[in-house]
Amino acid sequence: MTMIGLEIHCQLTNLQSKLFCTCKANYREFKINENICPVCIGLPGSLPRLNQEAVKKATMIAMALNCSTPEKIAFFRKNYFYPDSPKNFQITQLNIYGDTSVGGTGSIMVGDKKIRITRIQLEEDPGRLIYEGSSSKNQITLVDYNRAGTPLVEIVTEPDFENPKQVRDFLNILSDLLANLGVADPSLEGAMRADANVSIKGGKKVEIKNIGSFHDLEKAVHFEITRQESLHSRDIGIIQETRHWDDQRKITVSSRSKEEELDYRYFLEGDIPWIRIDSDIHQKLKSEMPESISSKKERYISKYNIPAQVADVLSSDKFYSDMFEKAHTESNAKEIANIITTDLMGLVDTREKRIASKLTFTHLKELADSIQSGKVSRSSSKNALHEILKTGKDLSAIITEFDLGNVSDESELSEIITHVISEESQAVEQAKSNPQTINYLVGKVMQKTKGKADPTLTLNLLKKHIGIS
Ligand SMILES: [Zn+2]
Repeated sequence: MTMIGLEIHCQLTNLQSKLFCTCKANYREFKINENICPVCIGLPGSLPRLNQEAVKKATMIAMALNCSTPEKIAFFRKNYFYPDSPKNFQITQLNIYGDTSVGGTGSIMVGDKKIRITRIQLEEDPGRLIYEGSSSKNQITLVDYNRAGTPLVEIVTEPDFENPKQVRDFLNILSDLLANLGVADPSLEGAMRADANVSIKGGKKVEIKNIGSFHDLEKAVHFEITRQESLHSRDIGIIQETRHWDDQRKITVSSRSKEEELDYRYFLEGDIPWIRIDSDIHQKLKSEMPESISSKKERYISKYNIPAQVADVLSSDKFYSDMFEKAHTESNAKEIANIITTDLMGLVDTREKRIASKLTFTHLKELADSIQSGKVSRSSSKNALHEILKTGKDLSAIITEFDLGNVSDESELSEIITHVISEESQAVEQAKSNPQTINYLVGKVMQKTKGKADPTLTLNLLKKHIGIS
């Protein structure tokens, strides 16, 4: 049986400052080595000060993943020498004296499969190495410490995954959950990274490190399973080792590093005292947590009668559900959900497009109301939405500028209907004997008005002209 376990590193990108100093958590907007101070570059004598908000956010993640939350947490030094770690140790958490990490055991359902969480720990991100030159012949390596000390949450799972698809489904659920909690923006490059361990048929465990994106994680796991199965089929033993993901060649390669957990010589971080998180603080955090994705979904279905599939898509993406929450009323909720899931999603399917979008919830509300009142047709509304995203103009201005309004003038419509009736005598006779076939004539009127005829008025006028009720 294939067994896959994950270690996911997730930056708390929505925090103001780093984990132990006041440098900005958002290191991405700085020039190289501009977002640093004596604490995060590990100058002698500097002392860390723990960011309380980071502890709160990490605790919320633990709660959302149904993990236990200990009353006392501690930090440890993980000692290793590497250029991206200026202190020569990383401040992290470890459950060596009982559960002292921010989150203990928990679980989350992925479809019908229960994935157990081993622990959740809060730690600092190292700096970043920048290689100059080609990957095979690196001339120099530069170090950027802007990222050093950024708050990172590590989520460790039990080896409960059986195939790459379960891994992918879990990662999708997890990144939606983190975005919904408001603790991270998983779409930012490097905000979520992962290591995986893979073993087949009870064989030795292989760890894959250095996987930079969720997309690559699935590929890396898939590659590793295939590699191990191939060795197994040829009776070649699988050795326990650490392999690195080579994202250029899309393969895993054996790594020279041979560190074991023991080699890190963990010891308690003496510069940070044990932190006590009383149960009333846990209660308060729980009450401050945003509504979960599943409860949002249930509410959309039961309160607004939105189809389950639409409610699922709408609730799981924070960008869309925030839009929906602000724009909807009792009467237009279904229409708003419809616009978001059938029209908007195809138009803002990347982070860049979302940032560039000029759409506000007021636009969305006006759009839904205009469709419901018959001011614009569904097909014209899609064109209007396209224009709003680009320019942010008012809906009414766009309707006028592009002549998108519905034809709802009775005499104008009557004239068109008279034409249709004279051209379609056979269909008119048919409609007289079978009123259901009148939709064909409605379609003809729509064709002549390029989809802009008010559908209800068209139907009523047609019936009146033909003489059916
Ligand atoms: Zn700093």
